[in-house]
Amino acid sequence: MVEDYKQVKGLIHSTETFGTVDGPGVRFVIFMQGCRMRCKYCHNPDTWAMKSDKAEERTVEDVMQEALRFQGFWGEKGGITVSGGEAMLQIDFVTALFKYAHELGIHTTLDTAAQPYKTDAYVTEHIDELLDVTDLVLLDLKEINPERHRELTANKVDNILEFAQYLSERGNAMWVRHVLVPGESDFDEDLVELGEFVKTLKNVLKFEILPYHTMGEFKWRELGWKYQLEGVKPPTKDRVHNAKEIMDTESYQEYLERIK
Ligand code: SF4
Repeated sequence: MVEDYKQVKGLIHSTETFGTVDGPGVRFVIFMQGCRMRCKYCHNPDTWAMKSDKAEERTVEDVMQEALRFQGFWGEKGGITVSGGEAMLQIDFVTALFKYAHELGIHTTLDTAAQPYKTDAYVTEHIDELLDVTDLVLLDLKEINPERHRELTANKVDNILEFAQYLSERGNAMWVRHVLVPGESDFDEDLVELGEFVKTLKNVLKFEILPYHTMGEFKWRELGWKYQLEGVKPPTKDRVHNAKEIMDTESYQEYLERIK
């Protein structure tokens, strides 16, 4: 990391000033450019390219100054969230931004699919540095069955599950999120396995089922790409209820209420 960490640069896809779903309270959300996953339902496919003329190279200081303009709206719970794309692909920038945020007493949330995680010493050291200044991790677990995960995201799942276990061992607070896609990630046997896996993790403050939606479909068309889930409809209420019951997500909501 360069000496003056506030001058570290990152490639920013966009920012959102009043995010309400990417962490607790009202949040300033920074979407990083670049992702190596290829989720069929991705609603931000324009973030995939590691370089883009539409993205902007900005310093930590610059992004923080923009965020601070909205600090008055964050209340006690809010703060900043870095999302993507895949935030961990620009780990030096995110670490520097969160370090700065902590100096200013601002709550930090990392929204990640954990694709870059590896267990080698170099990566672990960098990830440790980031996790030391991260108050909450929003971890997307897209599918637990290895073949179906590869089919859905074009990536393996093992290292992602290892990352979840690593967070658990380190004591990092996390919200686990699973997007329920009919015919892709809503198989009962996989939901049972995912529910069992999440129960082995410590520090899961929330376990959410997010019903698949088609709101990102237009972006694929804008890019001139064929939408991968053409004709797939959002899950019915019954299927969402079924998934929540199978994975026993309610117990986490109750736990959260208890520790408030
Ligand atoms: S990890 Fe996120 S940004 Fe990357 S392809 Fe999947 S949904 Fe899109």
